[in-house]
Amino acid sequence: MAAKTKKSEKNRSILMISSEMVPFAKTGGLADVVGSLPIELAKLGMDVRVVIPRYYSIDPAKWDLSPTLSSMGVWMGGELEWCSVYQTRIRDMVTVYFIEHHGFFGRDGLYHDAFMNDFLDNPRRFAFLTRAALQLAIDLEFQPDVVHAHDWQTALAPAYLKTWFGNHPILGNAASVLTIHNAAYQGVYPKHHFPYIGLDWKHFHADAFESYDYINFLKGGIYFADLVNTVSPGYAREITSPHGGFRLAPYLSNKGENFFGILNGVDYADWSPENDKMIPQSFSTSDPEGKRVCKRQLQKHFCLDEDPKIPIFAAIGRFVDQKGFNLLAPAIERALDTMLMQFVILGSGDPGLQEFFGRLPGKYPGRAGSHIGYDIALSHLIEAGADFFLMPSLYEPCGLNQLYSLRYGTLPIVRATGGLGDTVENYAEATGEGTGFTFNNADASALYSTIGWANSTWWDRPAHIKKMRERAMRQDFSWDKSSAQYQETYEKIIAAKRKRDG
Ligand code: ADP
Repeated sequence: MAAKTKKSEKNRSILMISSEMVPFAKTGGLADVVGSLPIELAKLGMDVRVVIPRYYSIDPAKWDLSPTLSSMGVWMGGELEWCSVYQTRIRDMVTVYFIEHHGFFGRDGLYHDAFMNDFLDNPRRFAFLTRAALQLAIDLEFQPDVVHAHDWQTALAPAYLKTWFGNHPILGNAASVLTIHNAAYQGVYPKHHFPYIGLDWKHFHADAFESYDYINFLKGGIYFADLVNTVSPGYAREITSPHGGFRLAPYLSNKGENFFGILNGVDYADWSPENDKMIPQSFSTSDPEGKRVCKRQLQKHFCLDEDPKIPIFAAIGRFVDQKGFNLLAPAIERALDTMLMQFVILGSGDPGLQEFFGRLPGKYPGRAGSHIGYDIALSHLIEAGADFFLMPSLYEPCGLNQLYSLRYGTLPIVRATGGLGDTVENYAEATGEGTGFTFNNADASALYSTIGWANSTWWDRPAHIKKMRERAMRQDFSWDKSSAQYQETYEKIIAAKRKRDG
């Protein structure tokens, strides 16, 4: 029988497992969330430990990594796979462990190579990470009340807990939470990897891991997790609606009250114009001058005409279908042809879109700028210096950039989907209320019209822009509310598990 712990809500122990985490390794919003949520939970009194891979881009000296275990054997596919473990502390509140395995993590790229080809051994790499994280808890005798997994990469955790460790003295008490940051990425792989993962074939069935004769990591995680959440209430509704959730809707709906949305928070220590160390001058609602300085710097950076009167429209993101850049390409070209405005974009991905956006500065000299690549400092300058921020996503689980934009007074122009619809309040032309501009139809002309609406507001109703900007900057999407919801969620599943286990 599992050992009983008698801990109060405050000092719960949480084991979080993730494939990315700010500031160590990031490709998207998952890293931002795993970088800040554990700190917020620690502020509530919890002992939170996070386990991530030691990708070779993570420099041990820079992050002050110290050895935890020089060799740890992890049972994979019927034999032991060996690794070592390092650790560091962040903000003196959270311990982060790094799983070092040269074969799996000693290469460039988190999930794919420089040509965007997914690594073929991804199912093994992340099954290993997940199983290693649980092994680490055992070896350190860290007894978690909750194991919190994120996305398909670590979705095996709930299955391992239930099938391997149900009665284990260290892990037997742990309830499991799986957070879905994006339901489109499910981790679907040929079934010949299943023996390596180490689960019995009886779990390879249509309600759990099997999808059209392939392994589906996320689907199996949903089946085994005590509770599943996603990152906004709007997206939770969308992915449980008929035909939603990229074929996961029925499985998510089956979770009943154990599936819902908790909106992501923002770490305003990193992302606010008062505190941002990466921008040339700080600013706030009471001292807006810095925004003008940032705008000039942004125009200089992209060789745009340095005119403070011209509005800058901006976009940042991965060039993948989800983000709607296929709509943005024709819409922005038409807008640049017909409106007095400037445009900048930072991102990479689809080669066709890279080429398209890469050529814009040549076609519109002094009016368009593009940086094809990944640049965190530039993303801060864009948030601070631009006037409007474009997010025409086809779907958006939460979206962080619109939340950052609001705080920097860079009015978001968004398609009202998922978290975007939950967080951006549409402009009311009669009163000047609102925090941004929203549209519904996923087509380039709807986006073009909305860009036109924002641009005409800029030129014709500047008092409304000022009012919206101030309102946007006052919006509060800090973690306080969301971390309290996670705490409540943990308590709920801990209580349910203890009741079930007697
Ligand atoms: P997703 O996780 O789907 O990519 P989110 O809006 O949740 O989208 O989070 C994206 C995060 O990644 C934001 O912090 C954004 O600034 C950052 N980001 C995306 N592309 C780039 C890039 N090319 N350079 C710098 N940061 C980027």
